[in-house]
Amino acid sequence: MKLSAFGRKFTADAGITSLMDDLGNAMASGEDMIMMGGGNPGHIPEVQQRVQEILAEMATDENQVRRLVGIYDPPQGEKQFIASLADLLNEEYGWGLKPENIALTNGSQAAFFMLFNMFGGEYGNGQRKHILLPLAPEYIGYADAGIDQDLFHAVQPDISFTDAHEFKYRVDFDAVEVTGETGAICVSRPTNPTGNVITDEELARLEGMAREHDIPLIVDGAYGTPFPSLLFVDAKPTWNEQIILCLSLSKLGLPAARTGIVIASEPVIKALSGINAIMNLATGSFGAMLAEPLVKSGEILSLSREVICPFYKAKMERAVEAFRVAMGEDSCRWYIHKPEGAMFLWLWFPDLPISSLELYQRLKERGVLVVSGHYFFPGLPDDDWKHRHECLRVTYSQDDEQVANGLRIIADEVKAVWAEQ
Ligand code: PLP
Repeated sequence: MKLSAFGRKFTADAGITSLMDDLGNAMASGEDMIMMGGGNPGHIPEVQQRVQEILAEMATDENQVRRLVGIYDPPQGEKQFIASLADLLNEEYGWGLKPENIALTNGSQAAFFMLFNMFGGEYGNGQRKHILLPLAPEYIGYADAGIDQDLFHAVQPDISFTDAHEFKYRVDFDAVEVTGETGAICVSRPTNPTGNVITDEELARLEGMAREHDIPLIVDGAYGTPFPSLLFVDAKPTWNEQIILCLSLSKLGLPAARTGIVIASEPVIKALSGINAIMNLATGSFGAMLAEPLVKSGEILSLSREVICPFYKAKMERAVEAFRVAMGEDSCRWYIHKPEGAMFLWLWFPDLPISSLELYQRLKERGVLVVSGHYFFPGLPDDDWKHRHECLRVTYSQDDEQVANGLRIIADEVKAVWAEQ
């Protein structure tokens, strides 16, 4: 089969495809794996119950069913959901949104593909622009989303120690450089894989840099604010026309509904809707219709703050405690990134004699599936920064007992690696 440059790029071995294959194969192997690798949200009974109630109500209403499955939405997305969301956010935060500031996509992953290629890549006259990721590590799902090669430029973080076994990444503003070749800046907040939440001050400085260069700041709020609020520190919900805020219904508990939400200036939404029409004709209505009653009543915010956030915070605390106990007073060096949000522990084992990929393989053999940290540095030049081969991402969204077991096995294996020296 002969393929175009596009075909070759998107069938080449991409980090995310090999990772998804590996996770999928491990899951299908039928062995009793402890799954701490993926990004699947946990099952929260209160959320599940509200979804069931709304579905049951919709199923008995002929009009609703017709809207749900029998009508193409416009390329911008389901109108009623968009109108209710604009009203809710204006009421809550005074953002002054019109429906023309919001578009829906089939998952926020699809929005990132469109946005990155809208602002990064060839501009004509030989000019190429990149997407700046000011704080590596960053979400692996960005890595291969560029039609052009080498779309991303990432920046190493500042590392500060916040406790005997805890550290935090911060944006190294001395190293962040926005130039005429920067098409947009992008950060996930909270960050997948680290659970870091860039501070309000960091966000404001990045916005200032974007404004100065007349480029957008893309904020990936898949885990963030205003919803689903997997946030354990304060983070101010922020939007203005410089910012493209990408939200999602996935981590609220609806990943299969594939609903992404983009909030941006009108020209950005218009352009995005045009691309969406070409790629998808229309965005699916299901997630939007399912969530609309929660948006109209404001329940999406109260559920996020009062149910979803505490659910993940408690899981995070149990996971941290399990790992601290399992590592005990062992003398090998280990750190957890300050867990400020999302659903991951980011573990760092400085000077570990084997790479994180080898550790991942050894853990897989012991029935624990995690993700090697080296995947999460898209856009960072290959250099000898060994930190990127010393970290693991561990998901704690699933059953607490399983997660604690998995963490005990990780601690045991790390100690075994050191004991072999
Ligand atoms: N952004 C981040 C940081 C993520 O972790 C994910 C999925 O895990 C996404 C975006 C994409 O999510 P979805 O396409 O389900 O909205």
